[in-house]
Amino acid sequence: MLCPAEPRYRRVLLKISGEAFCVPGRGGVDGGELRRVAEEVKLVVDLGVQLAVVVGGGNIIRGHTIVRDSLIEETTGHYMGMLATVLNAVAFQDTLEALGVPTRVQSAISIDRVCERFIRRRAIRHLEKGRVVIFAGGTGNPYVTTDTGGALRATEVRADVLLKATKVDGVYTADPVTDPAARRIEHLTYNEVIDRRLAVMDVSAVDLCQRGRIPIIVFDLKRPGNMRAVVLGEKVGTIIDAGAAAEGGAAAPGGRSASAAGPGVRR
Ligand code: UDP
Repeated sequence: MLCPAEPRYRRVLLKISGEAFCVPGRGGVDGGELRRVAEEVKLVVDLGVQLAVVVGGGNIIRGHTIVRDSLIEETTGHYMGMLATVLNAVAFQDTLEALGVPTRVQSAISIDRVCERFIRRRAIRHLEKGRVVIFAGGTGNPYVTTDTGGALRATEVRADVLLKATKVDGVYTADPVTDPAARRIEHLTYNEVIDRRLAVMDVSAVDLCQRGRIPIIVFDLKRPGNMRAVVLGEKVGTIIDAGAAAEGGAAAPGGRSASAAGPGVRR
């Protein structure tokens, strides 16, 4: 008889950028892409893992880009970005539920006709009941991103790990799209990411995870079964934690900067 797979993590916070919900290079949401992501999430839920998801909104609006060619104030732009995450959240909710995954959406910005407000204790209760909680609205504050929102919610719900879903399978020594010599780095410390300003996540997000001792795993969401493998503890992507010095030359003095460059890891 086959033993059921044993997850390494009991409670997981998954950060998905809005780009995961659209056809590459296009904006908006795409039903097929939503479904592909939802199927990956279902594989993890079926392991019995408690899963919270923070969704981005970059496929619709990013605050700092919308203001470039408009008379919109930057603060307004960021609120528009936060509202965009709500659109993604409800689209993802319906897609997951159509696959039989129970969900709740909680938003940092109150939109009571559409979803619940973020209430930490209620969110934890949903997780305990096996519902996927989709957090929308980022932090509810302008001038930051949903990466910081992800780290914040991971800390608040006491997640065991933050999974940063991207379109490349981890952090590389250079941009793997343009540099064939680029190598994936298996392990980095929080300090390496912060000190060298590696383009993995916002510094504030990494700092929060460091303080909460929450490991971050950067991985490719679109590779079928990849997130399930991460949750089962397989060596996938790049892990960032407080551990020993990273391999892969990331910390080599004077060496080429490590980079999470590539279409999937932004900023
Ligand atoms: N945003 C914000 N505060 C937050 C989270 C997001 O102001 O706490 C705005 C910000 O303008 C951001 C946009 O919402 O550009 C969309 O979020 P993000 O860029 O993080 O989305 P992603 O790139 O992950 O899809």
